[in-house]
Amino acid sequence: MDECGRCGVKVGEDAALLARGTLWHVNHLMCDLCSCRIHENERCASHSGLLLCEHCHLRATRPKCHGCSEHIVGHFTEAMGHLWHPSCFQCTICHHTLLKTFVTLPNKQPAHQDCFWELKLKLNVVQKSF
Ligand SMILES: [Zn+2]
Ligand SMILES: [Zn+2]
Ligand SMILES: [Zn+2]
Ligand SMILES: [Zn+2]
Repeated sequence: MDECGRCGVKVGEDAALLARGTLWHVNHLMCDLCSCRIHENERCASHSGLLLCEHCHLRATRPKCHGCSEHIVGHFTEAMGHLWHPSCFQCTICHHTLLKTFVTLPNKQPAHQDCFWELKLKLNVVQKSF
């Protein structure tokens, strides 16, 4: 088991890297996603059995925003069982950013507490006027 995982040639005395239980020539260790060479200092960045470069590893493990489906870098809001860009987690009524304190409407949409009561009040008024 001293053959290179990519070219199949015996590694022998050559410098080799061990990754995923296999030996690789130093410049034959490639990323499974983008096929770039994985460097010594970023090797073993494996995710779900794949051999990934640092770049792809970051992309694969970075959480996605439930609002816009883009990757989240840095801060995020965790709410309703999903992760969001802080700016993507919005009140369904006024469309302004929501903070940790929010209410869930009967249709499972998040909203400011104030907006919720305002809406409730409006609905009551409408119902009464009928
Ligand atoms: Zn090789
Ligand atoms: Zn890659
Ligand atoms: Zn977003
Ligand atoms: Zn609001």
